[in-house]
Amino acid sequence: MRRIVRLAVFFAVGAPTLVWAQATALRVGHLVDPEAGTAAANQVIVIQNGTFSAIGGNVAIPPGAEVVDLSQYYVSPGLVDAHNHLALTYKEEPEHNDYYLTSVLDSTALRAIQAVSNGITMLSAGFTVERDLGNNANYADTALRVGIEQGWVPGPTIINSGIIIGGFGGQFTPVPEREMLIYPEYLNADTNDEIIKAVRRNILFGAKIIKICVDCRPYGYSVDDMKLFVAEAAKAGLKVAGHVQTHPGAMRAIEAGIWSIEHSGALDDEAHKAMAQKGIWRVGTETPLTDYHTGNTPQAQNRYKRQEDGLRNAYANHVKMAFSTDADYYIPGMTRGQVVIDFLKSWKDADIPAKEILKIMTVNGYRVVDIYDKRGPIKVGLPADLIALRGNPLESIDTLRDVRYVMKDGIFFKKDGVMTPEKFFHSGPTPPGAWRIH
Ligand SMILES: [Zn+2]
Repeated sequence: MRRIVRLAVFFAVGAPTLVWAQATALRVGHLVDPEAGTAAANQVIVIQNGTFSAIGGNVAIPPGAEVVDLSQYYVSPGLVDAHNHLALTYKEEPEHNDYYLTSVLDSTALRAIQAVSNGITMLSAGFTVERDLGNNANYADTALRVGIEQGWVPGPTIINSGIIIGGFGGQFTPVPEREMLIYPEYLNADTNDEIIKAVRRNILFGAKIIKICVDCRPYGYSVDDMKLFVAEAAKAGLKVAGHVQTHPGAMRAIEAGIWSIEHSGALDDEAHKAMAQKGIWRVGTETPLTDYHTGNTPQAQNRYKRQEDGLRNAYANHVKMAFSTDADYYIPGMTRGQVVIDFLKSWKDADIPAKEILKIMTVNGYRVVDIYDKRGPIKVGLPADLIALRGNPLESIDTLRDVRYVMKDGIFFKKDGVMTPEKFFHSGPTPPGAWRIH
């Protein structure tokens, strides 16, 4: 068997140390282009060494290639969840859905193992990219990313933040004698020196995006504080994502020019117009109204209506939007991937057309996680990630609820609805140089 091991370049977005035995050729019924909103019939996709090497209607299949018949399927680029926390799963039992208790009860090591499990279910649901924004104990998110990039376990490409940086206390409210419990869920950074140190600590320990708490406390970050975050992160080519929960916080974050605003509760027409003008990403995390989420009470219905109105307003104002969930909890009977894909409901209820939702879940996703030129689109030269569906997602977005095939880095992780992860595991030793991934 001819073994081809890719060693040369380890992108920040992750080039796993997988082994490809031969070329693969896919006969595709329809190839969906979410950017153009079109689907081309009867296409052939050739994959060599884990990357797309030829795509088109008249492409020669290399001799010896494994040919896979997807003529009955719509093939689309993989999906992106731009806001999740794979190393956090809080539950009714025992912590009453309070992640402060999860952080006390569960070790970083245990949470990293849980992150692997969550990541596998995300990949099975068609999510080939996931931006992971903190609340992962002591860098369990970096461990997950590196484990996937080393080729030890299957999972989405991870863009992780390391520890969330906030003013004293982060999002926690411990009692004074338990002050030490803020760390490692949050890094306190209140002065300029502390801000610079916190950003550098995250970069050193594997962050690919910096996540800050803009206004989790009454003493939230000022415009100048956030400009310092942006400048310090930029030295390493990183962007800054800000958790925002108040209107003044949103306006300060927009003025400071951070990359993305996380959560949408504080975003009104004024904020949306300012975001559209400055090109700031809206990572809204719109939770669907379901019995299992909210109990579907009148109060929950009102909250959901406000959320949907916000989504509509953002869409009308041409704000750059991402599909994002913040789905960091356990729902009995559902995997993390199933919980996440159910957020389609929020987008449908806001009357966003299927074509737009698909674009938001793919192209916008690659852009907000800042990998568009390196991974995501089905394009010659890029890593071969894709999904296959029974129907046309440009017409019916719910076809994404049943992803039949998932390919990651040129290897099928799922075939005909069944996970096939064998080729994603190896026990090392890692190829020369791979230990440098961190
Ligand atoms: Zn979150």
